[in-house]
Order: sequence, then structure tokens, then C-alpha cells
Amino acid sequence: MKKKLKIDMHTHSKFSPDSEMEIEKMVEVAKKKGLDGFAITDHNSLKAKKYVDKMKLKDFVILVGEEIDTGERNEIIAFEIQKEIPKKLGICETYKEIKKQKGYMIFPHTFDIARKHIGKRINWFESNFAIEVLNSRCIFDSLLKSNKRAVKYARKNRIPMSAGSDAHTYDEIGTAYLEIEAEPNAKAVMNAIKEGKGEPKGKTTSTFFLVKDWFRCAIAHHSH
Ligand SMILES: [Zn+2]
Ligand SMILES: [Zn+2]
Repeated sequence: MKKKLKIDMHTHSKFSPDSEMEIEKMVEVAKKKGLDGFAITDHNSLKAKKYVDKMKLKDFVILVGEEIDTGERNEIIAFEIQKEIPKKLGICETYKEIKKQKGYMIFPHTFDIARKHIGKRINWFESNFAIEVLNSRCIFDSLLKSNKRAVKYARKNRIPMSAGSDAHTYDEIGTAYLEIEAEPNAKAVMNAIKEGKGEPKGKTTSTFFLVKDWFRCAIAHHSH
């Protein structure tokens, strides 16, 4: 049965070099916060997929995507792919590989100049993609307006929207999420996103928290 679901479309599990989150505990935390599911979008890794396939999930949806660093100062999240795509292939090769696997792209933090982002190069792609219009880790967002620009761009060009916390720690899970009407399973949620049914909800994470977390990553010798 279709339900209005709350899905955080951008999180990082322990399969990302800069997160230590265990997937079971992520589910526990997310349920407590009232989420119906989340997407695991690890950096250059699809390892979570095998792991999630083996989990017996009840009343909870997990989607798995790969946040691929193209090596050309941008990142693409590929959903519905079966095989991990290597990082730094360049934007053209990465796109070709996603297309070959019939994957679906979501551009993360699309206009965030403080991080790797697709920006104006978005015009280069055919229409089969969504853009993240709310990413909680967009720093100084009231000043840089990265999220606002993304919403505007999506609305103007009728591009499906996505939203997520970009959580690397448990506290961040659900800070932003997509509200979407769909059957509670990964395929149905993905299809509803493609149809542009998702509504971004939530807020950005505080700058203080983000700076603190950069130190955590730096100390752990992680690069992101
Ligand atoms: Zn991310
Ligand atoms: Zn990261």
C-alpha cells in the first residue's frame, strides 16, 4: 500500500573511509527519528549492497547508491547499479559506465562551491537524473545559498528533487529527508523519485558541528 514515506536519501556507512556507522545501528537511530528509510551512498563503494541484501528488514527501506568521485571536481551518486564503479574515471567515462549499467543519477550538493559539485556542467547530461536540492552538509548555506540555487534550478527545469543529511555520524541522520508517496520498498521509492514526487524536508547541520567533524576526519587520516 502507498504511504507517505520519510527517506533520508544521502548517508555514509562504515564502508565509506570517513564514516564509522554500522548499518544496523543506523536503522535503529533512523526508526527512532521517525524515518521510514534511508539511502546509503558510500564514497566510491557499493559494498553496502551485498550487506543490505542479506538483512531482514521489517517496515524499513534501504536504498543503496555509490557516491562516485569522477576525479574532475565533481561527484555523482549512481543508484540501481549492480557493479561498483571505480573513482577518478573522469566525468565522461563515469557517465558511460552508469548508463551501461542502466543506473539512475542523483547529483549531490549540486551547486555547493565548497565541495565537489556538478554546477553548470549539469547541462551536459540528458534528462534522466535527479538533483539533490537539500543537503544538510552545505556549509554557510544562508550565505552561499547552494541549496536555494538547487531548488530554483530544479523547479525551473522540472528536474526531480532529492534531499538528504549526508550523515557521517548517527546524530546527523534524518536532518534532511525526502517526503514521498510510494510503496515501502526501494524500487517503488526510486520510481517515485524519477516521477518527481519527492518533497525536500529538513534543515542544514550547524557549522559548529561540521567543523568539529572535519577534525574527526582529519585525525582519522581520512581525506573527505
Ligand atoms: Zn556524501
Ligand atoms: Zn564523506
